[in-house]
Amino acid sequence: MTTVALDHVSKQFQQSSADGGRTITALDNLSLKLQSGDILGILGTSGSGKSTLLRLIAGLIEPDSGEVLYDGVPLREIPMIERGIGMVFQDGALMPHWESRKTVGFFLALRHREHEIPERVARIAQITGIGLDHLLARRPAQLSGGERQRVGIARALARDPRVFLFDEPFSNLDAKIRAQGRVELKRLLNAFPVTSFYVTHDQVEAVALAHRIAVMRDGRFEQIDTYQDLYHNPVNLFVATFIGTPTINLFPGFIVDHRWRGATFAGYRVRGDLEEGSPVTLGVRPERITPHDDGAAVQIDAVTPFFAERFALVEVHSESAERFQIALPLELHPQRGERLRVQPDPEGLLFFDPETGRRIG
Ligand code: ADP
Ligand code: MG
Repeated sequence: MTTVALDHVSKQFQQSSADGGRTITALDNLSLKLQSGDILGILGTSGSGKSTLLRLIAGLIEPDSGEVLYDGVPLREIPMIERGIGMVFQDGALMPHWESRKTVGFFLALRHREHEIPERVARIAQITGIGLDHLLARRPAQLSGGERQRVGIARALARDPRVFLFDEPFSNLDAKIRAQGRVELKRLLNAFPVTSFYVTHDQVEAVALAHRIAVMRDGRFEQIDTYQDLYHNPVNLFVATFIGTPTINLFPGFIVDHRWRGATFAGYRVRGDLEEGSPVTLGVRPERITPHDDGAAVQIDAVTPFFAERFALVEVHSESAERFQIALPLELHPQRGERLRVQPDPEGLLFFDPETGRRIG
């Protein structure tokens, strides 16, 4: 079992002169520690540095400054063969002319341990409930996208990795196969606990597989926490709006008489040290706005039912023409055109400085 640490790691790229010749800071002073068996999800917009981070942890590229450490030892001092990295890419990155059997067994064969392959493959098949046997005689072109990713994962597992790196492994698959792949992988990671980094666009996948999640933007970690904490205690507006579907509602407002006042809602106490007239943005998640007799009057513009989750996402406008979304129980049968009174739950109020984006209450 292996701990992985990043110690003030930075990485820049020089664009070609055709692209403007600018210097891009892909990773900006990142520090982090994963204990053995930890699974870190990495979420972020495209270009935020997720793949660069994985390549750096894999030792495929070197940081300009800072250090990647496995069990406290700098990665650059660990010989390639002892690094033990299992990597799974978006497209599988399988050798086109190799049968899956050769792909899966490649690293064990390198170490003259071919005899272990059948047992490993059988174990993986047993845990996932997926017979790999019929896949093993085929080449990548004869495999579906989902099958290719299974072979890719089996290949990474068969080499007994110290560290597992996943770069959006299921993002090219359709929703149903993606969900199935997620469940299989979860079982595998429970059976073979390996320190893992899991890059994904899909928050559901991150929640299902990861113990903690790092939200990345512009090469930096905005916040590293459990999904629950990212959701309920975001450190800034970026994390608040990035995490959670449906998205959080944002209400612009000001401090008046030491309280927050917006166009639709008002009267909430914020931090005591804010000056009169300071702009403050209130964030409230759609399920934290609920019907209340003393609430603000709103009219329903649109209703989208979510049957499995048992709520209807309802778009409303208030008398001051402010638009926002609320999640109502399906049983209330909300209808377009209907009027009701609603109010945010006091525990669901998140206040932000609109200029810096930072959470202030
Ligand atoms: P993500 O995986 O989050 O989409 P990447 O890590 O691929 O982001 O890229 C981060 C930034 O670094 C982007 O601006 C990208 O264009 C740039 N970048 C990545 N690799 C290279 C490279 N080899 N040369 C130049 N720029 C690169
Ligand atoms: Mg990427």
